[in-house]
Amino acid sequence: MARIVMKFGGTSMAGIERIRNVANRVKQEVDAGNQVAVVVSAMAGETDRLVNFCREASPLYDPREYDVVVASGEQVTSGLLAIVLQSMGVNARSWLGWQLPIRTSDAHASARIATIDTEALGAALATGEVAVIPGFQGMADGDRITTLGRGGSDTSAVAVAAAMKADRCDIYTDVDGVYTTDPRIVPRARKLSRVTYEEMLELASVGAKVLQTRSVGLAMKEKVRVRVLSSFDDSRDEDGYRGTLIVGDDEIEEGSMERQLITGIAHDKNEAKVTLVAVPDRPGAVATIFTPLADASINVDMIVQNIAHETGSTDVTFTVPKAELTRALDVLEKQKPTIGFERVLHATNVCKVSVVGVGMRSHAGVAATMFKALADRGINIQAITTSEIKVSVLIEDDYTELAVRVLHTAYGLDAEEEADA
Ligand code: ASP
Ligand code: MG
Repeated sequence: MARIVMKFGGTSMAGIERIRNVANRVKQEVDAGNQVAVVVSAMAGETDRLVNFCREASPLYDPREYDVVVASGEQVTSGLLAIVLQSMGVNARSWLGWQLPIRTSDAHASARIATIDTEALGAALATGEVAVIPGFQGMADGDRITTLGRGGSDTSAVAVAAAMKADRCDIYTDVDGVYTTDPRIVPRARKLSRVTYEEMLELASVGAKVLQTRSVGLAMKEKVRVRVLSSFDDSRDEDGYRGTLIVGDDEIEEGSMERQLITGIAHDKNEAKVTLVAVPDRPGAVATIFTPLADASINVDMIVQNIAHETGSTDVTFTVPKAELTRALDVLEKQKPTIGFERVLHATNVCKVSVVGVGMRSHAGVAATMFKALADRGINIQAITTSEIKVSVLIEDDYTELAVRVLHTAYGLDAEEEADA
């Protein structure tokens, strides 16, 4: 007998027919003798609809009341799933965030989970009851309803799995796993049977939007075995795996002798480039740029400082989220006298392309391969950053698809056969 958490996303819960499909999957696990907690999302599109109601009601809505409204989508689906399970003869009960409770910070609309009380939950599971838990919601001090930020039900599921010491957390979604890159760009992208937490974190945060990034960080910290798989497709890959298992580094090394050097290639069009021209080349100059940006909670990602000109000044280029560009430019303008730059340039037609893989820890030449492959296609690199398991470059966004395709081939990631063969 295993204790498992099953999480179903919005597409899987969209309508009673689909909820029946979900219930069948839950029943299979129950019939196999497992203890099951299910975490559900709202029906696809529902949270957007509720968010829009709040905006329409008042652009300056109270975030505490926003949470009351948007948390309701998951209340509906959890109750409906419990009803359908009961109608199939499965003993099931819903547990809302405040009933367990799932305690969170009071940062409404982006709350963080603090603790999950597992006493009632554990007792229910021990009697063979299926617990259906709405994702995305919790309760702050003062017993107000909170939500965890968009996509947050992945984090709910991982947190419940960690708190219950579940054997695994299966995240059912509308794709059959995590791919080497976006299959819409590269039809020969391959589904990965396993990926490490660290790789998944990089892939999730650089654009492969399968799981909420926060949920992966939590899974890594709590060592929760997460599997991403489809609620609509039961097929297995040629190695007999369903979905993608997200695990620790050690397991991958054991699992496959011929581990790929590079696991995946991601791209992210959500950054903008800022260049400060002629910043005085003296100690502390860079701090005068990035301290005020940090104080304004603007996340800077890539940074390039050019070699000093003979005039004793240097150019500094960096990226910020596109959504923060206007604010960043405003902060920089205000700091102009302190920083002492001449002019500021900015561009939004850029894309960050990243190659990710734990294999690069023990191999030289990964970055060189990337730069050469891009150079051969005449793609200019505007900025570079690296970490132990990732190399990212900033390029003109018109070249995104070409760059991803070329790199996918350069690292030998293309599937053997044509996808449509
Ligand atoms: N329903 C919420 C959202 O759309 C949470 C989730 O589904 O993960 O953001
Ligand atoms: Mg999601």
